[in-house]
Amino acid sequence: MTLEWRVRLVGLGRKIFILKIRGSNPLHATTSNLFRVAFFCPMSKQYRVIPIFLPMLACPHRCVYCNQYVISGQQRLPDVEDVRNTVERNLSTIPSDFHKRIAFFGGSFTCLPSAIRDRYLDAVQPYVLSGQVEGIQISTRPDYVDESVLQSLKHKNVKLIELGAQSLDDEILKRCGRGHGVADVERASALVRRFGIALGLQMMVGLPGDTREKSMHTAKLISEFGACCTRIYPTLVVEGTALAEDFRKGRYLPLSLEEAVDWCKDLYRFFVKEGVAVLRLGLHPTEDLRNGGNLLAGPFHVSFKELVLTALWRDRISSQIAAEQREDITVVVPSQEINYAVGYASANRKRFPHVKFQQA
Ligand code: SF4
Repeated sequence: MTLEWRVRLVGLGRKIFILKIRGSNPLHATTSNLFRVAFFCPMSKQYRVIPIFLPMLACPHRCVYCNQYVISGQQRLPDVEDVRNTVERNLSTIPSDFHKRIAFFGGSFTCLPSAIRDRYLDAVQPYVLSGQVEGIQISTRPDYVDESVLQSLKHKNVKLIELGAQSLDDEILKRCGRGHGVADVERASALVRRFGIALGLQMMVGLPGDTREKSMHTAKLISEFGACCTRIYPTLVVEGTALAEDFRKGRYLPLSLEEAVDWCKDLYRFFVKEGVAVLRLGLHPTEDLRNGGNLLAGPFHVSFKELVLTALWRDRISSQIAAEQREDITVVVPSQEINYAVGYASANRKRFPHVKFQQA
């Protein structure tokens, strides 16, 4: 049996947050944990993340598409002093009224030896304990999460764990050399939530063997497993990976940019409906990706999110035109959406020259 609660919290001048709790025994966590989860997870404009990138040196795996050096633009693990400097630099530039959190990105935090992990977490504890940041978030693999790791992370103020699910189709995971299956993601997700830590599940589209239907199935399971947030990354072909070899030999064809935008549009719409915050659409455009140096092929665009939201507004405008049976309609747009409604490079304004955009 699947139960679902939706708790709406109007929080302290923040946006309305929706907390979804699913599963046969959704109250794994205590009530106070649930509130902490709810307040830490959703992204509002008032949040700023202080990012610390840990490259794949920490990761004992090698997924077919992954060359973390290119993705993160960084080749060595930062030392503790680097971490402190990064935090200090960010704190000095983020306005004081923003909520802040420190994020260890890289997808393999708990693959690090516990002593190194603790060194990083200890280095940032003073910022949490002094209230300068609200907490810490990490990203890691689902098969490197167990009770003792979670106990230690929780003790050190980790409030959000993002797991790289990438796909929730066993065949795709196998072809990608992920080294874990769907069951591992489900188990790890339940465990994270049981510890009262907010859960994020990241996914990729266009992996070997992926289809539009399978990507939507992944999205549905992400919501079902209780994630409060997600990131969606189109698969790119990067030098130095097994996928690059497959691409060269004609065994792998990436999605076109149009296909990736189209798939992600449906996923984005689904997640919004489900109350799962989409924290990122498309890879962060590092210098290397921008220059295209190591990027062989794939749907990379510096403004990928804008393209997806432009497509969503294009559909919405088309529907309104069809409903009103005329082209000179007025579209009422929330002010924060106006750029997307008009469209990337004014795509929607050009496509619908008779439409008037009015800010709500
Ligand atoms: S688990 Fe993450 S960091 Fe490790 S190889 Fe795969 S994608 Fe790269």
